[in-house]
Amino acid sequence: MNKNYDIVPIAEGTNKKVVLLTFDDGPKDAAMINSLFDTLDKHQAKAIFFVNGYRVKENPDLLKLIHTRGGIIGNHSWDHIVLKDKSYEEVKQQIEDVQAIVKEVTGETVAFFRPPHGTGGDVGKKVSAENKLLYMTWSVGSLDWEMKESESGKTEKLIANVTDQLHSGSNILMHELPWTVEALDQLLTTLEGKGYSFVDPRSIEIPAP
Ligand SMILES: [Zn+2]
Repeated sequence: MNKNYDIVPIAEGTNKKVVLLTFDDGPKDAAMINSLFDTLDKHQAKAIFFVNGYRVKENPDLLKLIHTRGGIIGNHSWDHIVLKDKSYEEVKQQIEDVQAIVKEVTGETVAFFRPPHGTGGDVGKKVSAENKLLYMTWSVGSLDWEMKESESGKTEKLIANVTDQLHSGSNILMHELPWTVEALDQLLTTLEGKGYSFVDPRSIEIPAP
């Protein structure tokens, strides 16, 4: 991963076009999660699910579902608050409590951190590094978070938002939202049509802090 949070090849001379798929702000709903995985499986794609601790606590079974279906779990802080102006102690708790609950529920140690609102500040980066987490925001926003239920043409808009900014290594930000679930199959088909494949997040190198 480079400083723009794009995925770049570890070995020189690789020019395969890839994207990283990420889904933030869950886990919310079993039907949405299952549908996302049905589509990911169809395209043999893996993704990172950046979860919030308070949602995991409300419904640990949904985290288990993501884990069981082969999702890679990322840390998105406990409360989904802006971390950059918070104290070191508070940020530490926001991040480490998520590490703990994910470990408790799934047995996995989370390797990826994405700060809520893309603003972790130096303190977020520091605590992330202390927990051996790879810190990332994103490089391509689907803008699914700006869409409204009543809006028409959301699938087309979501695909256009992604393809307008698309480049090799794109770190694509999406959310666990009904219209994103609905658009995913067509989006992945579009990306494949443009010659892209999907990075397995487990192949991303986590540099020592
Ligand atoms: Zn978020």
